[in-house]
Amino acid sequence: MKTIKLKNTLKGEIEILNPLEKGKVLIYSCGPTVYDFAHIGNFRSFLMSDLLFRVLDYAGYSVTKVQNITDVGHLTQDDLVDSQGEDKILKKAKLEKKDPYEIARFFEEAFIEDEKVLRIIPPTFRPRATEFVKEQIEMTKILIEKGFAYSINGSVYFRTTKFKDYGKLSKNSLKDLLSGARVEVNDEKESPLDFALWKKAEEAHLMQWNFETCEKIPLEEIHKQHKEAKDPTLFGFPGWHIECSAMSLKLLGESFDIHTGGEDNIFPHHECEIAQNECTHGGKIKCWLHAKHLLVDGKKMSKSKGNFYTIRDLLEKGYSGETIRYALLSAHYRTALNFTFESLEMAKNSIARVVEVYRILKNHKEESTAKKSFDVEVSTEMYQKFLFEQDLGVSQALSVVFDLINTAMKARENNKLTNKEAMKVVKFLEDDFNCIFDVLPKETIISANLKKEIESKIIERKEAREAKDWAKADRVRDDLLAKGIELIDEAGKTNWKIKS
Ligand SMILES: [Zn+2]
Repeated sequence: MKTIKLKNTLKGEIEILNPLEKGKVLIYSCGPTVYDFAHIGNFRSFLMSDLLFRVLDYAGYSVTKVQNITDVGHLTQDDLVDSQGEDKILKKAKLEKKDPYEIARFFEEAFIEDEKVLRIIPPTFRPRATEFVKEQIEMTKILIEKGFAYSINGSVYFRTTKFKDYGKLSKNSLKDLLSGARVEVNDEKESPLDFALWKKAEEAHLMQWNFETCEKIPLEEIHKQHKEAKDPTLFGFPGWHIECSAMSLKLLGESFDIHTGGEDNIFPHHECEIAQNECTHGGKIKCWLHAKHLLVDGKKMSKSKGNFYTIRDLLEKGYSGETIRYALLSAHYRTALNFTFESLEMAKNSIARVVEVYRILKNHKEESTAKKSFDVEVSTEMYQKFLFEQDLGVSQALSVVFDLINTAMKARENNKLTNKEAMKVVKFLEDDFNCIFDVLPKETIISANLKKEIESKIIERKEAREAKDWAKADRVRDDLLAKGIELIDEAGKTNWKIKS
């Protein structure tokens, strides 16, 4: 286990990661709100979380990562102290005249597909907010009991003035917030800074639960239940902030090591999470990591400016997932990343250069009599130091990679590259570079043994089919599929590819 240093938004400085349990790191990353395809700005933050996961794993830690799916409660005006507006998923459902749950599942699936394209490692747990409503209600009830929240007209608000540390993450004081923050007019709240933990649902609201029983009200029963209920203010839906608090508590425990998100989550979302957690059970989140906003052509991305891109848009323009991954990952997560098509081209060229060198060095056979002219171990050490100790220093780590491959190619040109050194660089690219950046074509790093196995399985399957033993033929195909190899029958021949 190596020492890891990260910049903690809460402290405002770089500090050594000191996990609650030695060798284990618990991470919670705010996941997507599934009402539309996620855009490249969203994915910058999800890629930061992937980078963090991979760096910790590479450094020898055992990592548990929770990344939720927000499928209820995220309102359109989410930058207000207390979010207002329409539920993003319901708005889309209305627009498309579909069941809101259908919308949520559709975009959840699309998100997971995009993640795969970008080679993001799936989280250990991917909880849906709608499946943890009971936990959210329980937490809300504890906050009411302890006096940190109050219920009025069927809605429940957090009493911000009672939590003296409110504002510690975003460096806001309650006083500053009162004078400067964007607040809405709402007479039922004690203070404009109070935020909703639970909102009363009108009959027309399509996603609602019973606050007493925690049960979801099926769409077709909403009208009937509202009509028959003694107290219709019992029906409602959870706020966006409470879901992350409830899911992290259930899956990681009261305290955990790292929480990540985009910088727009710092306030109010993460500030509210801290308030809810600390007032319910006193648990602490040790380190907060936030990815900076992404600009496109120097401007904030927006649909109206025509500089808004989803992963699908870029794939359609012919860029690969690896290229997009590299372009979004290669700048430090706390720097403003200006995304341009030029930067995508540069990413494409950088990957092509690494792949080219990788292939040349892998086939390097000429044994040079020269002594070794460079030191792969020194480069590896520097590469690790940047990633581990410079707050996930990707740009410096990448410059080490390019220095190393350029030096190796120079030595080769001058006939000074030994086979041993060439193999060490190949191994570095496979084991060190690729385990973090993951952009090498998958088929190039498939082991020779697996290749042999695939070829013999193809023959075995062909024989089984000739003998009309379909069950056996299918079994062979499924065995390979389990190893990530897909067989393709074309024009009487069987080829294979890595399952995407
Ligand atoms: Zn969250």
